[in-house]
Amino acid sequence: MPANILVVEDEPAIQELVAVNLEHAGHHVLRARDAEQATQLVRHALPDLVLLDWMLPGQSGLAFARQMRQDERTKQVPIIILTARGEEHDKVAGLEAGADDYVTKPFSPRELIARIRAVLRRRAPQLSDEPTEIGGLRLDPATHRVAAKGRNLELGPTEFRLLRFLMTHPERVHSRSQLLDHVWGDHVFVEERTVDVHIRRLRKALEPTGHDRLIETVRGSGYRLSASALAVA
Ligand code: CA
Repeated sequence: MPANILVVEDEPAIQELVAVNLEHAGHHVLRARDAEQATQLVRHALPDLVLLDWMLPGQSGLAFARQMRQDERTKQVPIIILTARGEEHDKVAGLEAGADDYVTKPFSPRELIARIRAVLRRRAPQLSDEPTEIGGLRLDPATHRVAAKGRNLELGPTEFRLLRFLMTHPERVHSRSQLLDHVWGDHVFVEERTVDVHIRRLRKALEPTGHDRLIETVRGSGYRLSASALAVA
């Protein structure tokens, strides 16, 4: 499952080693050398995961993790903390600050990749290649197919990503800004109206099997995919 990963590491050699290995594993890598630069990058687009060095010049990795957890927009982003060996007490502090996992330097790239995969599987289901099914509507990320009642439904690439996100996060209301962050990866330069346009197209694409009813408009808040909407109608 390819992901957008933000690597925050001040030592150029380690940053390079990590970035090269992640890219080799199919991920897209963004790099920052301190918390300030990382904050800028996150403001522009939400990464799927942050790999965060503990010891950074200026604001520490720990303080940055706390900052992300306190912000409504960034609090769900998975974080893995990197730190030097033998600082076991750090591990507790790191996990308390909201990190999802902890990798000790020196680490093997293979171990790092495996840990990232495990955290993404747990925390970012929209990146999984496993098929999802709700109310008879089935989405298969591996084949890029959406099907229901024995027929394939034609979706554009954006509608596919939108449906995938909604199906992996059902029954929750997502604001337009959240959808831009998670589906478009950008909430700064894309207009919120864009979301409405693609929701409309998505509903149209799901109409032939009546699954457009899965997607509810929540007035003043955003959109929700709910299986119960299908049952009521
Ligand atoms: Ca460091």
